[in-house]
Amino acid sequence: MQTFQVKTSAHSCAVDITSGVDAVLKEMAARDGVCLVYVAHTTAAVIINEGADRDVMDDVLDTLDTMVPWKGAYKHAEGNSAAHVKSILAGGSVQVIVDSGRMVLGTWQKIFLLDFDGPRTRKIFVHFTGERTVSP
Ligand code: ZN
Repeated sequence: MQTFQVKTSAHSCAVDITSGVDAVLKEMAARDGVCLVYVAHTTAAVIINEGADRDVMDDVLDTLDTMVPWKGAYKHAEGNSAAHVKSILAGGSVQVIVDSGRMVLGTWQKIFLLDFDGPRTRKIFVHFTGERTVSP
């Protein structure tokens, strides 16, 4: 398992982390198997979705903001319950098949870190299970 950090730049934002995951897989000499990408935070998420049109992620974030408004009748004293709820809705991890050292992603797919309570530095965990080109 390896980690890398991502600095987010807004309160609510999507950061394309595909190249960061890819770099870790190359360091791991990953060849054929499955890659787990996980964010160890309770107000962020990791998803796979369209990366070609930036408007898609804006629409996703706007829709989540509408579904789960920042202000509401929440009990959590920290005041960021909306971020916790959105983190649950979006999910904290994804799995990607790795074939011949490359992640199997669709033409338009990218891996995104979603931050719902930024800006912060978020830690991404990458775990690969499978065959490697060299022994670890
Ligand atoms: Zn909280």
